[in-house]
Amino acid sequence: MNLSRFVYRYDLDGTVCLFHSLLLKKLYMSREEWERVEHSLSDKTRSFEGVPADLYRLGFIVEADEDRRLRALAIERLAEPKKIHTMFLVVTEDCNFRCRCCYESNARKDMHEHMSFEIAKKAIDTFGRITQHDLPRTILFYGGEPLIEYPLVKKSLDYIYEMEEHKKIKSPCFKSITTNGSLLSEKIVKELKNYENLSIGLSLDGMEKHQNSNRVYPNGHGTYKDVAHAVRLLEKHDMEFAVICTVGRHNVAELDSIAKHFVLDMGIKNVAFNLLIGREDGSNPLEVSGDIAARGITKAYEFLRSQDCYEGRMSRQIIPFVEEKLYFFDCDASGQQVVVTPDGMVGPCVGFISSRRGFLSDKLDTFDIYQGENELFLKASPIVMEDCQECPCIGICGGGCHYNRLVKTGDSYKPEKGFCNYAHGVLEWMIKRLEPAKI
Ligand code: SF4
Ligand code: SF4
Repeated sequence: MNLSRFVYRYDLDGTVCLFHSLLLKKLYMSREEWERVEHSLSDKTRSFEGVPADLYRLGFIVEADEDRRLRALAIERLAEPKKIHTMFLVVTEDCNFRCRCCYESNARKDMHEHMSFEIAKKAIDTFGRITQHDLPRTILFYGGEPLIEYPLVKKSLDYIYEMEEHKKIKSPCFKSITTNGSLLSEKIVKELKNYENLSIGLSLDGMEKHQNSNRVYPNGHGTYKDVAHAVRLLEKHDMEFAVICTVGRHNVAELDSIAKHFVLDMGIKNVAFNLLIGREDGSNPLEVSGDIAARGITKAYEFLRSQDCYEGRMSRQIIPFVEEKLYFFDCDASGQQVVVTPDGMVGPCVGFISSRRGFLSDKLDTFDIYQGENELFLKASPIVMEDCQECPCIGICGGGCHYNRLVKTGDSYKPEKGFCNYAHGVLEWMIKRLEPAKI
């Protein structure tokens, strides 16, 4: 018997944590206890005398072929079929902002496509048909800035509710609008408030200086005042919303102050930090290193939790870590989502909207898109990626954004350093704060 190759040691203040990267089990012990274990493990007689029974019980000390069996089981689970449960309706590629961080590159700047109701309707019909399963289902209105096309959004929402009434879309079907907030008027918020299971995702990068150094109008003017006004409107009408805060060099150093500003000054309860991704050439002017992002986000998260606020980015790693369930992908573009462009093309990933890479033009009736090159989205998980096999994050990171790996490394199966550094930072933070009550 041996210590599993998936067991990693973390030295904490006065204690040691052993972490099994595939079983996601943790075992904490005093440093003295660990020294005894280490001594027993190096004992040539392999008697392992005095080794705590928990090490066997948790699967940390195993027979020679157990590690191979565990990995084979994980690979089998990776191959289990997935069901689509989320649809992005990209109602326009046009936007009234010119954010410096935007990954929807200028490649198709002149196109500014807008979706027709016929295309939206067809997509909603197909979505209803293929999501008669038991998973929660969500339709997101996306852009560009989707509220440029508010009449279409509203008509589509009405149609979705009609479809739900006639059981052609299974209820509940959650709806969401991802918006920069600038076009939200009192009239629009009042109208949206009438729809059940509808929430708003509002992009806001922090206080005035953070927001205005990234999210600007085409004339260069800052957008903070208008977005803060949108927050007040949503709160006034008690509309469900989350603030999406993209983390970059413009705000990473002050994420905890930003979290305090959101909660204490603006009354926001629901925040999602968003990791910056590259443009299709891999670059992004606001890029920041992953370990710095992890430090900023974990610190802000601690404050948000202390205020009973929800944060979505950290939850993606915390849930698998706490529930001890392998996390194969960090994104639903892994067989579980479709993205419909204004001209009716269908693909898996919003990152490629501009170039239409992976988008197919004859799939609006079937959403049968995970084929050809798109099959990579189903397969490229850290569980099988060669460079991930010796990494403690293999069971909790999900590999980050598939698109970002591809544009940064040119290879779906190559880890992207920025995200890896982020994942390591978050794992170390979780290990230090194991007790679920603290995270
Ligand atoms: S792979 Fe990345 S860009 Fe594409 S949908 Fe997923 S998170 Fe977004
Ligand atoms: S993607 Fe990076 S962090 Fe995740 S398992 Fe691979 S090497 Fe580790």
